[in-house]
Amino acid sequence: MTDTNHAQVVIVGGGVVGCAIFRRLAMGGLRPVLLEAGRDILSGASKGNSALLHTGFDAPHGSLELSCMQKGYREYLEIREKLNLPLVKSGAVVVAWTEEELARLDGIVAKAHENAVGDAVRIDRDQLRRLEPLLSPKALGGVHVPGEHIVDPWSAPLAYIHQGLAHGGIVLRDCRVTGGHFDGVWHLETNQGEVTADAVINAAGNQGDIVEAINRPAPFKITPRKGQFVVFDKPAARLLKAIILPVPTERTKGVVICRTAFGNVLVGPTAEDQEDRATAAVDQAALRQLVQRGTEMLPGLANVDVSAVYAGLRPATEFKDYQITAQPDRRWITVAGIRSTGLTGALGIARHVAGLYGASFGRLGQAEPIWTPVPNLCEENPRPYQNPLGPEIVCHCELVTKDEIETALDGTFPAGDVGGLKRRTRAMMGRCQGFYCCAHVMALAEGKLIP
Ligand SMILES: Cc1cc2nc3c(=O)[nH]c(=O)nc-3n(C[C@H](O)[C@H](O)[C@H](O)COP(=O)(O)OP(=O)(O)OC[C@H]3O[C@@H](n4cnc5c(N)ncnc54)[C@H](O)[C@@H]3O)c2cc1C
Repeated sequence: MTDTNHAQVVIVGGGVVGCAIFRRLAMGGLRPVLLEAGRDILSGASKGNSALLHTGFDAPHGSLELSCMQKGYREYLEIREKLNLPLVKSGAVVVAWTEEELARLDGIVAKAHENAVGDAVRIDRDQLRRLEPLLSPKALGGVHVPGEHIVDPWSAPLAYIHQGLAHGGIVLRDCRVTGGHFDGVWHLETNQGEVTADAVINAAGNQGDIVEAINRPAPFKITPRKGQFVVFDKPAARLLKAIILPVPTERTKGVVICRTAFGNVLVGPTAEDQEDRATAAVDQAALRQLVQRGTEMLPGLANVDVSAVYAGLRPATEFKDYQITAQPDRRWITVAGIRSTGLTGALGIARHVAGLYGASFGRLGQAEPIWTPVPNLCEENPRPYQNPLGPEIVCHCELVTKDEIETALDGTFPAGDVGGLKRRTRAMMGRCQGFYCCAHVMALAEGKLIP
């Protein structure tokens, strides 16, 4: 941004999708300005998901969603080592629990092959048992999809931001777009004053239709779809390898059991429509049902404590597919309705948006990438607490060192709020949920977070 607060292109929203677009446009030689309402990135849908990198085996054939997911999946695998992003190569099994579900498995394999996921195969009860011996014997068979993986949902978008910044982009946090008008140039009203821009990209997640209304009557309505989760403590991770998926319905992918990159086990999410766009509350009844369903599928969970619960809001619209369009005459690109697959799709969406931008407003360049690796939080890879010199540990549940916390509070893009600090380090996210380390962490953060 120049001294006059004018940007070539503004991205509204720093969820995983906005962060990936920011990276792609900056690497294309633009100087994008990302405006995020929260005091840190990932203040919306992207802060609470299942963290699965999907192959797209069950996505609607021919959809924009499938195309973006598969491009995003490929690019994640290409760049992840350079950005130090983890990949837990778990594979997934779609498990049939009833005869009716069993009858649908061949259709799932056929769809996967149609979607170019050629290694998806039907497996019988014995094969399933060999793959996942601790799954309930009530499992009747499944479809094995080896390419489904587990990732860290927070380090990836953080790495995209760092790379975009290294290429000249600018991020303004605590900057909510509240209105605006277009007179050949966009004049966006924000709580930090006016920002003008030659073009605007709306990536506002659950606020997508509200931000869209600044430009035109929104042709879609966001109805957030809440997903609640229970997180089982680390000993549960020994109970399974693969992601256990249900046979999906039209409405949802259903309740999944999977490990996390951080060494826990997740059961969830639910799928509950709500009007509230900001609050993702959990409720006892739903959590109890998740524990019950999880224990039915993986009986060993009965012996492990639940260490945390959370919920996320999917930015769902009345349409199944992503709502991504350009209005060149208005110098506006809409990126909305990225409902259940945005973590996987983000890099592919960013490529698609760069294409729309290029076609509407001028071709992008292709700079030699500057790689900006982020700290590792994944249990499968070495972590600082393992250093034989015995670093000072602050969070004893997640084994987070003082150095890791200080690093997250300094540098080019420090944590903006407590949530951002947790997502960058995992401090306070373990079984005591900060009961023991909160005071120490907050003392380290004193004066460093965005007030
Ligand atoms: C329960 C659940 C499970 C999921 N599981 C998976 C999975 O396993 N794999 C997968 O690939 N995907 C998964 N997803 C989907 C994925 O999380 C979403 O598709 C993705 O997070 C959407 O990102 P976004 O950037 O579009 O929206 P958001 O993350 O909501 O980002 C929008 C941002 O815009 C900001 N904003 C809003 N209004 C304004 C404004 N006026 N001014 C400035 N900023 C504004 C918000 O603060 C927010 O940070 C899941 C989602 C949920 C909820």
